[in-house]
Amino acid sequence: MTLPPLTLYLAAPRGFCAGVDRAIKIVEMALEKWGAPVFVRHEIVHNKFVVDGLRDKGAVFVETLDECPDDRPVIFSAHGVPKAVPAAAAKRQMVYVDATCPLVSKVHIEAQRHADNGLQMVMIGHAGHPETVGTMGQLPDGEVLLVETVADVANVTPRDAERLAFVTQTTLSVDDTIDIVTALKQRFPAIIGPHKEDICYATTNRQEAVKAMAPKCDAMLVVGAPNSSNSKRLVEVGTKAGCGYSQLVQRAADIDWRALEGITSMGITAGASAPEVLINEVIDAFKDRYDVTVEMVETAIENVEFKVPRVLRETA
Ligand code: SF4
Repeated sequence: MTLPPLTLYLAAPRGFCAGVDRAIKIVEMALEKWGAPVFVRHEIVHNKFVVDGLRDKGAVFVETLDECPDDRPVIFSAHGVPKAVPAAAAKRQMVYVDATCPLVSKVHIEAQRHADNGLQMVMIGHAGHPETVGTMGQLPDGEVLLVETVADVANVTPRDAERLAFVTQTTLSVDDTIDIVTALKQRFPAIIGPHKEDICYATTNRQEAVKAMAPKCDAMLVVGAPNSSNSKRLVEVGTKAGCGYSQLVQRAADIDWRALEGITSMGITAGASAPEVLINEVIDAFKDRYDVTVEMVETAIENVEFKVPRVLRETA
């Protein structure tokens, strides 16, 4: 049987970032050092495949510290945690390892520095996302004003419009965030913020690659989890950049083949928490049905690496 031809564009960079890589290593090394079970507060990264794999090795995923016993180590996820969480673990004399991505920790430090200088904080982020909860939780309740959209800017009621600063979630849409920052600066000209925004290199690079790839594609798939912020943003960026059919899939079994009937070009990328094995599974599924020619769309080369915390390095 002759298979129909398909040009398969593969975005680069795609998939795992340095923060995700480090967080997974932290759980694996903690299991080696302390044995099972090791408790992990929240999914270490937003990917079911990764979480299930670590669970099989002895990690126990919980949502609150209250679910952890005092005498087993606990790891905080890559998204970061409110200050009250490590404080509670220390009070209970628990062994804990913080897998918060260093680029999220940097935002935490920024927020604290602004607060120390007497500025009230505005956070641009998604309500309820663990990273937003963690960053807002660096300061006392009610101190950080959350803004999700340009429209929200009109409703910000600061204590003093002259004494404001902003931080952002690291996994937002670069373009949407620029619009929100512009609106904030128009309404509060004295507001202080990072040089650009706090969106991390991995989010920015993956969105840039999608912008370059999407216009060439009849359809585009983003391998990632439905609760992964950066993966969902890639779908939106793909649509905005001109690919009418941009969809999120967790793995090959989720592909809606009927919706793809008649395509001759396909784009594939993956969110920062999606492992390469799932991307390969999706590529293989296309190779089973099409005569595939793979073309790379590379817009950046990444060589970022983060060290694991010292307590684990010492063991290694
Ligand atoms: S997406 Fe960015 S901030 Fe989040 S873990 Fe990866 S490098 Fe860190």
